[in-house]
Amino acid sequence: MKASPSHLFKWTVLYVILTLSPLLLVIAGPMKSTRGFWTEFGVALGFVGLTMMCLQFAITGRWREIAPQVGADHLLQFHYAAGIGAMVLTLAHPLILFYADSKFLSYLDPSVNLPRAAALTLAVICTVLVVVLSLWRKRFKLVYEWWRLSHGVLSLLVVLIGLVHVLQVAHHTYQWWQTAYIIAFVGITVYSLIQVRVVRPMQMKKHPYEVIDVKAHRGSGTTIKVNPVGHDGIKFDAGQYAWMTVGPSPYSLQQHPFSFSSGEKCGHISFTAKPIGDFTSSWRGVEKGTRVYLEGPYGAFKLSKSAKTPAVFFATGAGITPIMSILRTLRDRNDMRKCVLVDANPNQKEILFLSELQEMEKALNLEVIHILSRPEPGWEGRTGYITEELVREVIPADCKHTDFFMCAATKVMNMVEAELLRNNVPIHRILSERFNIV
Ligand SMILES: Cc1cc2nc3c(=O)[nH]c(=O)nc-3n(C[C@H](O)[C@H](O)[C@H](O)COP(=O)(O)OP(=O)(O)OC[C@H]3O[C@@H](n4cnc5c(N)ncnc54)[C@H](O)[C@@H]3O)c2cc1C
Repeated sequence: MKASPSHLFKWTVLYVILTLSPLLLVIAGPMKSTRGFWTEFGVALGFVGLTMMCLQFAITGRWREIAPQVGADHLLQFHYAAGIGAMVLTLAHPLILFYADSKFLSYLDPSVNLPRAAALTLAVICTVLVVVLSLWRKRFKLVYEWWRLSHGVLSLLVVLIGLVHVLQVAHHTYQWWQTAYIIAFVGITVYSLIQVRVVRPMQMKKHPYEVIDVKAHRGSGTTIKVNPVGHDGIKFDAGQYAWMTVGPSPYSLQQHPFSFSSGEKCGHISFTAKPIGDFTSSWRGVEKGTRVYLEGPYGAFKLSKSAKTPAVFFATGAGITPIMSILRTLRDRNDMRKCVLVDANPNQKEILFLSELQEMEKALNLEVIHILSRPEPGWEGRTGYITEELVREVIPADCKHTDFFMCAATKVMNMVEAELLRNNVPIHRILSERFNIV
């Protein structure tokens, strides 16, 4: 299903209601006393900041009910923006209280209450660290897997300290039903975390896969083919992805998302990657028979069921993988809808699936436009990068009834999306899959 404006609207409204719900509950209940506008405003920001932090776990909890409707892409971008928002509110909470009444400074005074002062200081430090490490992880040379672990642990600490703080202050939550609601709300956080880190790996352990082939492509790409062991395997729609762990245990820090590159019903599952870090660089050394665990499928980067809906695809580098899965599925279904693929790479050697794409041009109603930025001598095709002119060139007259897919470098995706919108392509017709999410 596509991330249509109505789905986005529905989930946004729900998010706003959930974010404000503890605050509304507090307002609805009796108050011990009123303490002036700035104090109450500072407290309100604290409540909203805490609930936003809690919902961050739910947003990244890979819930099948939400992700397919909103799109993992939108969710992660939202998670990113909401994280910054939650940090601003969480930090504004004490600052505004200190401004409203200097007596609140005692909350950070170890001589008044050492555990409280230590916990609240820790919460402030963790809040800042969560955001700073996310924004500048590469500058701090923090390995992705360790960042991911620290991100979860630091965020959980903030939420748990926040809960204890609310319950201890108990100025607004002294009715049992208010306390129960706040605890239940934080429970969502812990539940999401347990699901992703404990329950799902446990389920994956019972449904292993094994590597049946490792193919090195001409350039730097590698394809790993796997088969389910003792079960039927994942049923996925072309264009979707799964979280993958390679090795004897699904409880690993090295769990990464990869789009299926095989067609929906070809009898095996394959993934194709280009090396950009330690995990993807290790693919060529993976041996046949190695255990693989998959969690999924996820993603809304899917083709319209109607065979009459034309499609235009934009890919750079490994971004071709989910598109390849879609094209292979179209070929298997003998689906002759009109398709155009713009595939940008540095050189010919780096074009993944080049010969298969050439065959597909004959088997399908498909036009492939390769564009190379550093072509080898003798290349007669297009050179350069995907430009706004090229985007306009491939937008069909009936763009309102055409699906546009893009899985490419961030800069290219931003440019293509803006150009499509400028040319009256409806937003719900634009499907994007971002590989580089942080
Ligand atoms: C939905 C989705 C589908 C993807 N499909 C493919 C694919 O089919 N083929 C392909 O080559 N790549 C794909 N990627 C990107 C792939 O997940 C990362 O390149 C891979 O995780 C890098 O791991 P690494 O250890 O080799 O590199 P690292 O050094 O760990 O990371 C290099 C960069 O990759 C990104 N990255 C690392 N781990 C993750 C992660 N768990 N989630 C998201 N981004 C991460 C980060 O931006 C990081 O800076 C996909 C990403 C997403 C989000």
